[in-house]
Amino acid sequence: MAAEKLVPIRNTNQRQLIFEYLEHTLTHPTAEQIFQNMRQELPRISFGTVYRNLDILEKQGLISTVIYSKEHVRYQVGSMNHSHFVCSNCDKVKNVVIDDLTDLNNQVSRRHKVMVQKYNLIFYGQCANCQKM
Ligand SMILES: [Zn+2]
Repeated sequence: MAAEKLVPIRNTNQRQLIFEYLEHTLTHPTAEQIFQNMRQELPRISFGTVYRNLDILEKQGLISTVIYSKEHVRYQVGSMNHSHFVCSNCDKVKNVVIDDLTDLNNQVSRRHKVMVQKYNLIFYGQCANCQKM
């Protein structure tokens, strides 16, 4: 319908699209990469809008960030309870699975008299592809 095209895309729809994009990617994109991707669907979207929506999604607990250096804030769906591997060569970020972190959590809890609720472990090195080069 022609009339439908005149209805402006609302922020909530933009946010939904950003969330859906994150939901379907395993690359842990930066805000810039998310912006570039969203522009293909929403040519008039600005970086500021993408950034604001990411901020709102994060505050709602729907996404979280993986920060492994100041220049590298990456976004992902869900909360933080898994770990990451970062390739120092090609910058790829992968989710990694660790069998049991209870001991590690207990260690931190006991030593620092804190209650661990979530963790964010980052392993660094060379990914399988970069090792072949
Ligand atoms: Zn690599």
